[in-house]
Amino acid sequence: MKRLEQIPVKGEGRGNPLARVFDELTNFCRSRSLFILHYCTGCGAIELPPAMTSRFDMERLGIQPMVTPRQADILLITGYVSIKTLKRVILTYEQMGAPKYVIGICSCTVNGGMYWQSYATAKRLDEYMPVDLYIAGCMPRPEAVIEGMRHLMRRIENGEARGWEDYYRRYDHYLGNQQALFGDDWQTPTDVIAEARHYGLLGEQTLGPHTELLQQVQRPLEALEMRLGHGPEHES
Ligand code: SF4
Repeated sequence: MKRLEQIPVKGEGRGNPLARVFDELTNFCRSRSLFILHYCTGCGAIELPPAMTSRFDMERLGIQPMVTPRQADILLITGYVSIKTLKRVILTYEQMGAPKYVIGICSCTVNGGMYWQSYATAKRLDEYMPVDLYIAGCMPRPEAVIEGMRHLMRRIENGEARGWEDYYRRYDHYLGNQQALFGDDWQTPTDVIAEARHYGLLGEQTLGPHTELLQQVQRPLEALEMRLGHGPEHES
């Protein structure tokens, strides 16, 4: 066990063949056990029930729905995203543990689709968070959704789906686009910079003018007040 612990499993250029095998095995297992959180933002969501149920049966690929971001691997955005909704989408994405993947379903996530002229809709999802895969169409059929999933599985197995690393490495870029849309005082409760440091992904573009602005406006999280039978409503 002690020898195993000495094997570097993180970082580039590892020379230990056992560590490489271990990484490949991890990637293979990861690609065959994917929990998806579908954020059903638009009409494309209607294609997911047939993709998951008996006719197309996505679960045979090891893919199944998950109800919380904490345990999900894939965030599915299924159509147009209004500016209000995008705030929740970003918050949800940041709550997911790494490695995590984003799939944009429908043309609306690629370029705004038929809402390209709308004042209330975000046009390109990948300006605000890294998108690993787009499945275009208005709306894409379940076959296309499943083929997209297979494609993502291959990329995960080959260690190529690394968009989540880009969010940490270029956080200032993504945060800048978010601030341009939501205002200078935009913030989420997630400490992305600390997470970047934790994963060893703090790069030259993680920090910049936008993270400086964030630090000026950021309010510290306040603990939620817990009332278990001691509040005034319980006093007689
Ligand atoms: S691409 Fe078409 S089906 Fe998909 S969300 Fe946009 S309008 Fe709806």
